[in-house]
Amino acid sequence: MKRTVLALVAAALLGTAAAVPPSPGSPGLGDPLFPTLGNGGYDVRHYDVSFDFTPVTYDFSGVVRFTAKATQALSSFNLDTDGHVIDAVTVDGRPAAWALSAGQSGQELTVTPAEPLREHVPFEAEVRFHGNGKAPRAGLTGWRFGPDGGFAAAAQSSRADTFFPVNDHPSDKATWTFRVTAPEGYVATANGVLTGRDGGTWTFEEREPMASELIGLAVVKGTYVHGTGPHALPLRHVVPQGQEARYAPIAAETGAQIAWAEARFGRFPFSTYGVHIYPGYTDALENQTLSLFGTGWFDRPAYSNTMVHELVHQWFGDSVTPATWQDAWLNEGPAVYYAAVWAQEHGGQPLADRMRGVYAKLDEVRAKDGPPGRPKGLGGYNIYDGGALVLYALRTEVGEETFDRIMRRWVQRNKDGNASTEDFIAHAAATAHRPALDGFLRAWLYGPQNPPLEGM
Ligand SMILES: [Zn+2]
Repeated sequence: MKRTVLALVAAALLGTAAAVPPSPGSPGLGDPLFPTLGNGGYDVRHYDVSFDFTPVTYDFSGVVRFTAKATQALSSFNLDTDGHVIDAVTVDGRPAAWALSAGQSGQELTVTPAEPLREHVPFEAEVRFHGNGKAPRAGLTGWRFGPDGGFAAAAQSSRADTFFPVNDHPSDKATWTFRVTAPEGYVATANGVLTGRDGGTWTFEEREPMASELIGLAVVKGTYVHGTGPHALPLRHVVPQGQEARYAPIAAETGAQIAWAEARFGRFPFSTYGVHIYPGYTDALENQTLSLFGTGWFDRPAYSNTMVHELVHQWFGDSVTPATWQDAWLNEGPAVYYAAVWAQEHGGQPLADRMRGVYAKLDEVRAKDGPPGRPKGLGGYNIYDGGALVLYALRTEVGEETFDRIMRRWVQRNKDGNASTEDFIAHAAATAHRPALDGFLRAWLYGPQNPPLEGM
């Protein structure tokens, strides 16, 4: 006991002696693909975003308030921002100095509080801003505009900062409140549960931690369609106004898709789910609790494959978020793999045929764009189809039952958190009780060529 007390006293004295003077937080988190994305020195706990948007003119104004904990003594800290006029900044209720400078994708907003922030101590910051959705951006924009004069956010991977100042890296997950103002005739959307509507202001609470890349902000001429999923999971979809007869039945297919996914991964990880179908978008994106789809997908007979892809992301990518963008195969690999399983079960191409095609093509892609676990950029065949092939190879190696256990436990263990490729390798080897999977997965994920695979 005495020794413990002495040790504590010594540690306290050492701590005092070693106290580091406040210094600026890093302007980036050193992501291998986006070195200046996100910011160091603090950890955001909760964002409260007010966003007031005027359709047709695309003018907006907003306030972002957040609570965070300093992870070092801070003389200043940064936020990522792009295309905003900053009107005022406060820290702990006191006016703070601020400056804008060029960043990798957009700009860096450097905030200097009236007094330095102490390590481990929570603080609250508020930034007031305004802008125009169509104003030029320094980096890629996340704004997608429809024929209705509205917009929907497609923020992946580094574009949440085109909506509001934010710590825009997936490793800093937080809970969120959104207060979105939309005029008569329009609806507002955001992630999580709608908790109130006061005049034109819609309030949403996203109570499960979420990365900023997954914001589901939109103001559109849409109609809310409500439903119920497995175990009474509340579903809410948004479909284009006047086209409810076409799109509401498609949205209603979601319930059966969730049941299919839950049979593989366990319970849906969030409090609600839904699809937002918007004519202003051409792609599909797994925004947390509200996946976004362009209307064009639904002209294709196999549109449900895409719905399942984005649904699978709610577990793989949203609930379990990659530690860095170089780990993105952990999102896209499962989404492509399970959508291919779904397709096979619903009259589509057999999975083995699909994977043979990927095997034949992947070596060339590895050489050009990097292997699935070490891509040179995002969005490539290596992390999508290549990531799915890694999982197919793993299943071939360990058998279906063990593979299912690896995938199910992965999303259960890492729920609401971040995980890396290295974490997955260790998890797979431990779950299968097969240390040799370490070398097996490394060869598939990091090697310059595909290892041999039965049936290829
Ligand atoms: Zn995807």
